[in-house]
Amino acid sequence: MLRLQTSLNRRGFPCPRCARTFHTSGGMSRHYRLECVDLPRFKCPHCDMRSKYTQAVYRHIRAKHRNMELRFVKLY
Ligand SMILES: [Zn+2]
Ligand SMILES: [Zn+2]
Repeated sequence: MLRLQTSLNRRGFPCPRCARTFHTSGGMSRHYRLECVDLPRFKCPHCDMRSKYTQAVYRHIRAKHRNMELRFVKLY
């Protein structure tokens, strides 16, 4: 029982859409239903703000980090 669980954990449950791997099938299906579609791909390089849209990151940097470099980090 313990051995079976370990081998399952090692293989993991990859999301069919974005190929991220999860430890449990429940975690994967929750991600697939709730997060994957709307996963923010772009991140502010100056703080932890994330968005689906590069324009939103640019707007955020202009508002919050006025003298900082205007760019984004691509997460996926
Ligand atoms: Zn996914
Ligand atoms: Zn920021």
